[in-house]
Parts: sequence; C-alpha cells; structure tokens
Amino acid sequence: MLDVIRPGDARYPSVQHVYVATGSPAAVIRPRSAAEVPEALALARAKDQPIAIRSGGHGISSISTNTGGVVIDLGALNTVERLHDQHVRIGPGARWSGVARALYPMGLAISSGDSGDVGVGGLATTGGIGLMGRAHGLTIDHLTAAEVVTADGCTVRASRSDHPDLFWGLRGAGANFGIVTSFEFRAAPTPSVVQATVAYALPDVAGFLQRWGHVLETAPREVSAFLYLIGGPTPFAQATVVFAGDDTAAAADALEPFVRLPGVVRQRAQLVPYASVPLTTNATHTGQQAAVTHTGLADHLDPDLARATAVLLRGGAADMVQIRSAGGAINDVPADATAYAHRHQNFSVTAVTTGDRAAFADAWRPLRTLMDGIYLSFESDHQADDVLRAFPAATLARLRELKLRWDPDRVFTQNFDVSLKA
Ligand SMILES: Cc1cc2nc3c(=O)[nH]c(=O)nc-3n(C[C@H](O)[C@H](O)[C@H](O)COP(=O)(O)OP(=O)(O)OC[C@H]3O[C@@H](n4cnc5c(N)ncnc54)[C@H](O)[C@@H]3O)c2cc1C
Repeated sequence: MLDVIRPGDARYPSVQHVYVATGSPAAVIRPRSAAEVPEALALARAKDQPIAIRSGGHGISSISTNTGGVVIDLGALNTVERLHDQHVRIGPGARWSGVARALYPMGLAISSGDSGDVGVGGLATTGGIGLMGRAHGLTIDHLTAAEVVTADGCTVRASRSDHPDLFWGLRGAGANFGIVTSFEFRAAPTPSVVQATVAYALPDVAGFLQRWGHVLETAPREVSAFLYLIGGPTPFAQATVVFAGDDTAAAADALEPFVRLPGVVRQRAQLVPYASVPLTTNATHTGQQAAVTHTGLADHLDPDLARATAVLLRGGAADMVQIRSAGGAINDVPADATAYAHRHQNFSVTAVTTGDRAAFADAWRPLRTLMDGIYLSFESDHQADDVLRAFPAATLARLRELKLRWDPDRVFTQNFDVSLKA
C-alpha cells in the first residue's frame, strides 16, 4: 500500500514544506521504490488536483509543494550504486552531499553545485552548474541514461539509444516529460580537489567584477569559481575557487591570479576530498529560505554588466548577487545536443532577495537587458516569458513537440512548462 501523508498525520509538518516556500498539500505520496511511482502518479491523477514532483525540495521556483494539491515525494529513492568502472546509478531523492560522499571511496565525483542539500532530481533534469563545471561540464553532460515514469504511467528508459528524443529533452527541461526515478551517470575520476576561499573588500564593485571576469575567463579550465557579493555601505565578496585535481603545484599557479586581485582580506587553500565541497545542513524544510531570485547568463562581465551589478548591490533591493562560472567544458557541448542550450556564456549571474519583490524586479530589469538567456534552476519566476528566455526558439519548438508526444494532457506543468505561450 502506498504511503500517503495527509494533514493531521504526525509526519505531515515534516513533508508539507520545501526550502524556499511553505505549503499545505492535500496529500504527500511517498513511493518507497521506483516500482511504486506509477501507482503514485495514478492516484495523484485521479484526484484532478495540481501535482508537484519533489526530489530534494530545494527548487528555487518553490513548486515542489503546493496548496490543496498532491505532492509525489521521491525522497526515499536515494540510493547511489556503482554499476561498473565510472558508471553509477543514483536515485532522484539523493542529495548531492550524499552522492559526493558515496562516490569518494570509489575514487569518483560528479560536479553538481555549491549546495549539498540540493536534490539529484531537480538539478539533474535542468543542468547543474557546479564547482568543477569548467573542467567537467554540466551535471547533465555526464548523464548516460534515465528511467522515467511518463504521464500515462509507463516506465521507459531514455538514453542515446532508447528514446533519444526524450533523453535530449530530459537534459534541460526534464520536469516537463515525466518523473525520473533513476539517473545513470559516467562520473569523473577526480575524488580530490584544491579548494580556495578568498574574501575581498570591494570599494569599486564594477572595477572588481571586470577584473574577476577576465581572471576567470583566462584561467585554465581546471578552475571553476563562484563569487558571492554583498552590498551595503562596505560591499564585500567571498569566492569559492576550485581546481579540479590534486596537482597542488599546478593549482597554486592557477589560483594565484585570484589572490592578486585587489581587496583581498582573507585567503585559504587546501587539498580536500571533493565530497567536502558541497555545503550541507541536512535541515528539515520549513520554508526557511523565503527568498526570490532573478537570474541571467552572460558571455562576459563587461563594463555595462559590471556597472549594472554594482548599482543593483548599492540600491539595496538585492541581498546578494551570486556569479557562477560556466564556460570551459560546458561550452564544448553543441547547443543542440541537450535541451539546456546555453553553450557560449561564461557566467551565470543571480540576484537574491528576501525583501520587497516588486522593488527587486524593478532593480533587476536593467541587468535583464544585458543578459543572454537564463538557467531555469536559478529563476523564481516561471511564466511564459521566462520559458522563452530559458530556451532559444529552436529548442523550445522541439520541446513543445516532445511535450505533445510524451505529456499530451499536460500532467507535468511544474518548473518551466514549455507549453506556455506569451
Ligand atoms: C541553496 C541552493 C543552492 C543552489 N546551488 C546550485 C548550484 O550551484 N548549481 C546549480 O546548478 N543549481 C543550484 N541550485 C538550484 C537547484 O539545482 C535547483 O533548485 C533544483 O531544482 C533543486 O533540486 P531538488 O531536487 O532539491 O528540487 P525539488 O524542489 O525537489 O524539485 C524542483 C523541481 O524539479 C522538478 N523535479 C524534481 N525531481 C524530479 C524528478 N525526479 N523528475 C522530474 N522532475 C523533477 C519538479 O518540477 C520540481 O518542482 C541551488 C538551489 C539552492 C536552493
């Protein structure tokens, strides 16, 4: 019998919310195995209510919970198994910290993102801009196959040879086509990395950003870096810079330009297991991070974008701006090879606020015009306009055809529904 948690159940408070939102679903169905997922979906469909799919519950768009609808929570499908050599199979409910810890003794790692609390299901169906991204590509670039329960309740395997069209769509717009119950990846043989943390005081945010952009774009591709900027009267930034490998001499050379940038107030670098890189709290979800984000991708941190980012931070409408490196191996993949089609940009720029949403949207607008597409996993909004920015026209046309074939009744309308038209 399916495990269904409804209001009044003592377990309900621990499953109703997600990280960025509170929710009050009518039922949370928790399959214990992939075999139970078709039954869970049939039950959810019979209710004729909104259906949310949840893996780790860390979705930025907050739609892995709802009000009055049904949630299918895949948290129990969290195994990490080695298949052979570098090939592993991972459940959608695993968290990236758990994945990294399980892969380390195997001498393997998969680049995911900075948060170890993020679930495999949400990230591996959209992209995965991680701290080894310039060296290894996106997380989805390592996906070799996925098992999916489609809208009609069938379980299908998608890979380059099985339903290649579905496999293409899953890698960037996965939430549109079904419920992924397992992911197979070819992991990388990079269990250890050199991780540096550098803090900067930023009297001149715009000038710093241009220099940061140049240093990053000219760094060897073993280097990936995420920069977190805080505004206010004395703006500052903290960077996490990762050299994907254990060659400490090469790492020292590669990291040196980052500590030669102006304003360094603290620095530290060490050889660490990659498993310690994704930060984790393992906290129960209570909607604790009630933040909204706006995001965009950019080729370069050019003077206009750097100045606009400085103005945004100075104005106070954003609590933080995060600038993640893309580029490198991410851009080796042809734009039409996966539904994630942004293969020429070098940076992902995301602003976050817990404050006034309208003021934040106004303050973000000047940056939006300087951006070239969005990575959907960093955007809170998911209206038609956002869908158009997440997928270039040719990609979107192909996704809409796929949607008609695999989900003609529009069961899966969460997370950037490609059917939405402006
Ligand atoms: C603190 C924080 C840090 C982050 N850092 C990064 C980062 O560095 N790099 C990066 O790339 N991303 C990052 N993200 C974004 C993250 O990748 C997405 O929010 C992702 O969707 C979260 O996955 P989840 O499984 O936890 O989400 P959930 O909330 O469980 O799911 C989000 C959505 O994904 C879809 N989905 C989930 N599971 C499945 C499934 N099994 N099959 C089909 N569709 C599914 C559903 O539509 C769901 O609404 C970060 C997010 C947070 C909150």
